Amino acid sequence: MEKPVPRPNADSATFWEGCAAHEFRFQRCNSCGKAQFYPRAICANCRGDDLDWEVSVGKGAVHSVTTVSRGPSVAFKEDGPYQVALVDMDEGFRFMANVRGGEAEIGTRVRVIYEKRGDQTIPQVEIGG
Ligand SMILES: [Zn+2]
Repeated sequence: MEKPVPRPNADSATFWEGCAAHEFRFQRCNSCGKAQFYPRAICANCRGDDLDWEVSVGKGAVHSVTTVSRGPSVAFKEDGPYQVALVDMDEGFRFMANVRGGEAEIGTRVRVIYEKRGDQTIPQVEIGG
């Protein structure tokens, strides 16, 4: 069974185009200065709608991590066990990804890597950075 592939919408299309070019794009609010991810039409902090895109250097530290022993569906059955981490990126936003290349724990430095799945390019993280 094939794994599901993210489908871009109006808010996320710029992000997914960035992934295809191996650029991790996130939004920053021009009103309050906060970085945010995932992409939205308005700022989650101040509700302003003056948002710009920036490119992350792709490095961060693990905020929290868990091990998935059994995949969420048949498509992921062969993958387990694997780690999923919440990562605090150096620019000040947080995102969730699978961990590659070793075991992560809280505070582990990671960097973004890109994996092809179908016609989409998906950001994950690997140890290091
Ligand atoms: Zn704001």
